[in-house]
Amino acid sequence: IFITIEGGEGAGKTTLIQQLSHTMQQRGKTVMTTREPGGIPIAEQIRSVILDRSHTSMDARTEALLYAAARRQHLVEKVMPALADGQVVICDRFVDSSLAYQGHARGLGMDDVWSINRFAIEGAMPQLTIYMDIEPEIGLARIQAAGTREVNRLDLESLAFHERVREGYRMLLEQFPERIVQVDAGKEANVVLEEVILTIDRRFRG
Ligand code: C5P
Ligand code: MG
Repeated sequence: IFITIEGGEGAGKTTLIQQLSHTMQQRGKTVMTTREPGGIPIAEQIRSVILDRSHTSMDARTEALLYAAARRQHLVEKVMPALADGQVVICDRFVDSSLAYQGHARGLGMDDVWSINRFAIEGAMPQLTIYMDIEPEIGLARIQAAGTREVNRLDLESLAFHERVREGYRMLLEQFPERIVQVDAGKEANVVLEEVILTIDRRFRG
């Protein structure tokens, strides 16, 4: 089973994934959690190139291609083998991030971003995507309050950019109502977790 977790900054993706993995392991499942961009050395290196604050001249298409390249390597090296082995794979971000961030927020167009990603993933799509919806102002405030994250290049984006990311995700929800399920990430972590587990149980009965 391939599940991806999506959402804007400070939505609580990392926390949810930890809790979800714990719950599913208690139920006897073998779970692999991972993240994008990254998850394996080649992709983590690509990630640092993308997020490097000093790379102020990075072109939007270059950025989109780098995400797609990191995605490709991560998929073939880590995700596909785990799925073939019967594991539950829970991934922090996947192709929807590129569509919402680079396609919509950055203005490259979802169709063009889809085309490079189609090449990268060769049809390997998650069965379920949880979209954690959060007001950008609240999400960004959470990150600041936590103070644990190093400031990256994308953190320098405007609030308007993050509003567009949210708009992009909402377009994807409309486009893929079967695959993507929205949860209100403004709620308490335990409530979010419960809702997500219900969704998973309904989707993968048995
Ligand atoms: O999910 P995570 O916080 O680790 O992502 C790192 C950064 O990369 C975030 O600031 C996020 O906004 C950005 N990002 C992006 N486009 C993507 C994926 C992530 O701009 N497709
Ligand atoms: Mg995170």
